[in-house]
Amino acid sequence: MLPFMTQTPTGQTMRGILVERLGPPEVMQLRDLPVPQPGPGEVRLKVEAVGINFADVLAVAGEYLTRTRVPYTPGMEFAGVVDMLGEGVTGVQVGQRVAALGGRGSLAQYAVCPAAGLVPVPENLNAAQAAAFPVSYFTAYHGLKTLGRGVAGEWVLVQAAAGALGTASIQLAKALGMHVVAMASTEEKLEIARGLGADVTLLQDDPDRVQKVRDAAGGKGVPLLLEVVGGKRFQESLDMAAPLGRIIVIGNASREQANLRPFELMKRNLTVTGLWLTPLMTDREATREAAEVLTRLVASGQVTPQVGPTYALADSPRAFQDILDRKTTGKVIIEPGR
Ligand code: NDP
Repeated sequence: MLPFMTQTPTGQTMRGILVERLGPPEVMQLRDLPVPQPGPGEVRLKVEAVGINFADVLAVAGEYLTRTRVPYTPGMEFAGVVDMLGEGVTGVQVGQRVAALGGRGSLAQYAVCPAAGLVPVPENLNAAQAAAFPVSYFTAYHGLKTLGRGVAGEWVLVQAAAGALGTASIQLAKALGMHVVAMASTEEKLEIARGLGADVTLLQDDPDRVQKVRDAAGGKGVPLLLEVVGGKRFQESLDMAAPLGRIIVIGNASREQANLRPFELMKRNLTVTGLWLTPLMTDREATREAAEVLTRLVASGQVTPQVGPTYALADSPRAFQDILDRKTTGKVIIEPGR
C-alpha cells in the first residue's frame, strides 16, 4: 500500500445526494453512491458538516452563474476530517480537521476536493461552524474591503442581514470599526442583526426605507452597499447610496432582472462593482490578506460563524426549500453522518 492511502477500499459505497435533472429542491435524491477516490493533487474528506449556500440552491435549479452539469452531487462548502491523500499532496495529514471550499460533491459521507481548496480550521470552531465559515466570511471580506474599500467609521448597508452572508457581513463590518444599517424581511431577523451589533435595523418593506437609510448615515446616504437581493431592490440601492457611493453586487436572491441605466451613476458619481468569490479565490494576494484577517478575528472570538438550522442528509430537499422560502437564518448545515 502506498503511504498516502488509508484502509477505505475502492468500490465501497456511501450515502449521498444525486441530482439527475435540474429543478426545484425535490430533484435531489438520496442514493447509494461510490465512495470517491482522490486524484492527483486532491484529498478526500469524511464529511461532518456541509454549509448550504444560496448558490447551491441556484445550481440545483440550473440558475447559477455557471452551467450545472448533471448528474452531480451538490455541496461546495464543507468541513470534516482528511481521510485520504491523492498523489503529490503535501502539507496535509490524514486525520487533520479542515474546511473545504470549491468544487462540488459534499452532500455525501465522503467527498474529494483539490488540496488547494482546503482552509485550516481554527481550534475554537466545531465542524458546523467550520462549514459555515469559508464562503460567507471570504465574500464578506472581499465585499467590505478588497472591492468595497470600506474604512473604520464608514456606514455600510447589509441586506438579508440575518442570512449566512448577512450575519458574516455585520460581524466583520463591526470588527473593522464600521457602522451598519441592516435590512431583513422580519422583526425576528432584525433582532438577530441587532444582536450581532447592527447600529440601525430596517424592515425590507418599510415604506420609508430609502429615506431612513439616508438619514441613518447623516442624510446623504450610505457610502457602501452590499447588494444581494437584486431586481427592483437594485434601483433602491442606487437611491440609498451617498454621492461617490460604492455598490457591490454580490447576489440576486430575488431572481428578478434589475435595470441599470449608466447615466444615473454619473449624477452622483456612483460605482457599481460585481463580486464573485470563485475567481477571487485564485487571486493569491487577496486570498492571503482575507485569510490572515479572518483567521485572527475568528481565533480571537471577535467573529463567530452563525450556524442556523441543521438537517440530516435525507432532509436536503427540505433544507434547500427552507432557504428559498426565507425561513432560515445563519448558515444552513447538513450533517451527512447524522
Ligand atoms: P442567505 O442565508 O442570506 O439566504 C437568502 C436570503 O435572501 C433570505 O433569507 C432572504 O432574507 C433574502 N431574500 C431576499 N429576497 C428573496 C427572495 N425573493 N427569495 C429568497 N430569499 C430572498 O443566503 P446566502 O448567505 O447563501 O446568500 C445571500 C446572497 O448572497 C445570495 O444572493 C447569494 O447568491 C449571494 N452570495 C454571493 C456570493 C458571491 O460570490 N457572489 C457568495 C455568497 C453569497 P430576507 O428574508 O431577510 O430578505
